[in-house]
Amino acid sequence: MTEVTSEETLGTSFYQPGDPVKQTLVFGTGCSQRVGEFAKTLGSHALVVTDPGIMTAGHPQKILDSLHQAGIKTFLFDGSVENPSDSSVQACALKASAIGVDVVIGVGGGSSLDTAKGANFILTNGGSMKDYWGVGKAKNPLLPMIAIPTTAGTGSECQSYALISDDQTKRKMACGDPSALPRITLLDPELTLSQPMSVCMATAMDALAHTLESAVCTKRNESSDYHAKRGFSLLVRNMEQVWQCPDDLDARGAVFLGAAHAGAAIERSMLGAAHALANPLTAKKGVIHGQAVSLTLPAVMAYNREDSAVCQIYAEMAKVAGITECGSSDNDAFHQLLSTVIRLRKTAGLPELLDAVGCHDLELEELAQDASEQWTATFNPRKVEAPELLRIYYSIKDYANR
Ligand SMILES: [Zn+2]
Repeated sequence: MTEVTSEETLGTSFYQPGDPVKQTLVFGTGCSQRVGEFAKTLGSHALVVTDPGIMTAGHPQKILDSLHQAGIKTFLFDGSVENPSDSSVQACALKASAIGVDVVIGVGGGSSLDTAKGANFILTNGGSMKDYWGVGKAKNPLLPMIAIPTTAGTGSECQSYALISDDQTKRKMACGDPSALPRITLLDPELTLSQPMSVCMATAMDALAHTLESAVCTKRNESSDYHAKRGFSLLVRNMEQVWQCPDDLDARGAVFLGAAHAGAAIERSMLGAAHALANPLTAKKGVIHGQAVSLTLPAVMAYNREDSAVCQIYAEMAKVAGITECGSSDNDAFHQLLSTVIRLRKTAGLPELLDAVGCHDLELEELAQDASEQWTATFNPRKVEAPELLRIYYSIKDYANR
């Protein structure tokens, strides 16, 4: 079931009065090949940022053709790397600075979109990414950006933040500016067909975590609530269908749109302890982000539901998505929600124990300390400092093998 509304197809549902930058989100099979028509409204010299894997899949060539047909001069940077660092972003900006670009186009997964956003900071404001760590540090507005994601998951296409690693410490720097939000996002479900199934599963679980964390964290609000619930429903009702029938474009479209709503929910709210606990697993143990988040999420949900207001939100999400009956108690609805998340993680074959990702008890104290220093930890609805985070790491095993 696609369940996509006409507002979503037209892209009007992602912009609400009061949002600092108007974002147009276009959804539909083949829409990425209209990029020339959209880019023409923003500039005439485009920097197209992608990575070698996406080049092999052949998507950028069609996008370049569309841009050329519209009379746009293009410069292609196909060297984006996974978990982009300051130096990889600098390499992209350096190559593009010579040609005077006036529009930036990111094509690919979160890493390509983050590289495009990061290069945009450097091209317009100079310096290094450390200078933009935080919010609103750029003095000059960034160039308009078009996002063409090929992965349903990160939600970067609906966010004004670039996540860039520090080359030395490997710490992720969230660099945000209202003008970094892509002006136009083209969601073409066909582009996700090239996504390997293991990536597809991990990123869908990550997107699910984005809805569940942004819905309950301390920055939650009416607008983020709308996107979190909408994203959660689209994801939870369609992700298994994509895993079972990878060619089902309707289900893929729904998951793609759900992940974009999840990104919009983070943009308007924040994340919480599941991401704070996951980030050190990625930085220190090399665990893939989606695997790390789905490992920590159930234990964090169980910790957070002790707050009755949070338990009520979890229950609402379960009811809105139809995974529990409307008349269920908050407690019952929460348990349905938790077991759904655990079931989906199992179906996806993702790790359920810290041991399975090479993390042993002796290391947890240090990881919990790292987790307590993560920005997202400060927004968790229940207070989490190193001792609580350590207890949550230990409790992960209670939610495995159910
Ligand atoms: Zn995430």
